[in-house]
Amino acid sequence: MLDDFKEEQKVAYKIISNAINNNKLSHAYLFETNGYRNKREFLISVAKAILCPNHHMSKDDSIGCRVCENIDKNIYSELKIIEPDGMWIKKEQLIDLQEAFKTKGLESSRRVYIINDVECLNTSAANSILKFIEEPEEGIIAILATDNIHRLLDTIISRCQIITLAKSNYDKSSSMLDKISYLINVDDAYNLEEMVNSTIDYIYYLEQHKLDALIYNKNMVLNIFDDRLKLEVFFDIMTLFYKDVINYKINTNNYIFDLKDIEKIASYNDLNKLEKKINCIVDAKGYLKVNANTNLLIDKLVIDLEGDLNG
Ligand SMILES: [Zn+2]
Repeated sequence: MLDDFKEEQKVAYKIISNAINNNKLSHAYLFETNGYRNKREFLISVAKAILCPNHHMSKDDSIGCRVCENIDKNIYSELKIIEPDGMWIKKEQLIDLQEAFKTKGLESSRRVYIINDVECLNTSAANSILKFIEEPEEGIIAILATDNIHRLLDTIISRCQIITLAKSNYDKSSSMLDKISYLINVDDAYNLEEMVNSTIDYIYYLEQHKLDALIYNKNMVLNIFDDRLKLEVFFDIMTLFYKDVINYKINTNNYIFDLKDIEKIASYNDLNKLEKKINCIVDAKGYLKVNANTNLLIDKLVIDLEGDLNG
């Protein structure tokens, strides 16, 4: 129920509950979900608060409400949920949706459709739904959600009211991977564990073999981090790791990575070096946006990290 998100998603909660209470809903919302773990439940709660004739937002209020119950059972005909079928959302799924919503609603004057992971629309599917998003029949409301807004067509973004969700908090008992995916925006489709392990292996190699890393191991990086977005993750993991090493050096015992990895790298570096390294990595991430040659970029990083510093 929407009230469950009152604290965790303060801003989104306020926007949606105000719009419902003042009867000023937009015809299309795009939630930028930022890897938010409870996003599906959140999206359905938003739909429920919109569709329920009493706009129920709390569990207690909704007891005995037929609409809320039917939505929970996934049998409410005025709510459609579209999610990727495999890698993509197929055009047929969108055609079916538009067909289903062609006839007037049977159960209510309001109808809602959710398109989760809307970045999985290919261009032709996206084009097939633009008009539907822009000029829906009265009472039809779109709820779109994406973790990767930069992958959406501008024509979709411009038709929606954008609401950005807060990332969920992690506590100290969260796993290393949970903490990392909380701190950096990692596509759900990526194998984060492999990325983290490879990055740590690479750091180890680099710290021990210095400039020899130019020849060896670079291919490993470019094989696993084989596009720009993945390389961004690589640089982000490296930065987090070196920040952990700094935390270790200054006796803060709040680490993300394994202590044995941190200790090892800490023994090779003083604080000054560590700070310079973090700057080099952040700079390299910046060059990613302007430098087309990722091969040269990794070379430059190795030289910046290990060449000048030890010269
Ligand atoms: Zn209800």
